Amino acid sequence: GGTLLVQVRVAQVTPGHLVVLAEDQTQARRLEAIRRDFVVNISHELKTPVGALTLLAETVQDAADDPEAVRRFAGRMQTEAVRLSALVHEIIELSRLQVAGALTELAAVDVDTVLAEAVDRARTTADGKNVRLSVGGQKGVTVFGQHDLLVTAVRNLVDNAVAYSGEASHVGVGVRLVGDIVEIAVVDEGIGISAADQERVFERFYRVDPARSRETGGTGLGLSIVKHVAADHGGDVTVWSQPGRGSTFTLRLPRAASPAAPAEAPAPAA
Ligand code: ADP
Repeated sequence: GGTLLVQVRVAQVTPGHLVVLAEDQTQARRLEAIRRDFVVNISHELKTPVGALTLLAETVQDAADDPEAVRRFAGRMQTEAVRLSALVHEIIELSRLQVAGALTELAAVDVDTVLAEAVDRARTTADGKNVRLSVGGQKGVTVFGQHDLLVTAVRNLVDNAVAYSGEASHVGVGVRLVGDIVEIAVVDEGIGISAADQERVFERFYRVDPARSRETGGTGLGLSIVKHVAADHGGDVTVWSQPGRGSTFTLRLPRAASPAAPAEAPAPAA
């Protein structure tokens, strides 16, 4: 428990009668601090690719009479631009989630469709490094939420699982029902995450190995986006991992009531 910050306003209404208004400022201050840190982090994160692009542009200009060098530097500029674009995209997504808070327009979402879409894009990367990607477990499960946000969340987990896996390994996505909770587990046999890092991977911009993450095109925002999406759906996301053996990220979401069992119509009034 932190300190409770209370703003107190005292007003004398009539002689001898004081009215004391106490307002909890803790939450407001905390949100303000989060917002401030986020802006500082964003500026820092944007400086790297923008700096690289500036430098590369200068180099291209200097190398104008060497077509081969121009081609090479232009290629690197493109890589940096793609990275910058991914970063901006994720920053916008996360800011939106942070501002939106609880979801308003909820609909019944079919988990099978979410998983199929989430896995789709990762297939190319997985094939490229000979990683087998499989989806299994309970079928026909429904959750209550926003389809696109859920795809984004699972996609981030699957993309990570493939990115941090070695050649010729297996990434599995599985669905399990535990009471009224839907568990979506993304299991890999990759590099794993130490206990100390497991506590921090959901923080914005946190990367275990910035150099490696840069190689994989990581922004350090993926898991904080997953965490926000889970929370906004009334669920959570956890990690289990053993360095050198692999990681399992589990997204838990409340199950939506089965549409096959509609509520009974109220008895007509006598
Ligand atoms: P990034 O864009 O860098 O992948 P994330 O927020 O998605 O950022 O993840 C934060 C960090 O957690 C990563 O940089 C990586 O070090 C670690 N990580 C995430 N998923 C995995 C995984 N499946 N296996 C090993 N490490 C992982």
